[in-house]
Amino acid sequence: MDMPKVIPVCYCGNPVKLNTSWSNNNPGRRFFGCKKFDNAFQKPCQFFSWFDPPLTPRLRVVLLGLLKKVKSLEDARKKERRT
Ligand SMILES: [Zn+2]
Repeated sequence: MDMPKVIPVCYCGNPVKLNTSWSNNNPGRRFFGCKKFDNAFQKPCQFFSWFDPPLTPRLRVVLLGLLKKVKSLEDARKKERRT
């Protein structure tokens, strides 16, 4: 595992959770966020810290191209199932 030995603590005082970003600017880049982040009932605090180094422009283009490909394959499969 590549988890750091010391897990940061967010503003709520909880150990943070490692999430993966899928935004266009940072596809696949991991970041630390509040563990309430994916809980719709509790508002997360604003803690945010990147875990992975920034993506190079080249890697970003490659990753976005792959994501697009995966999505089109999934769409094609969904269409096949419907018919
Ligand atoms: Zn928090």
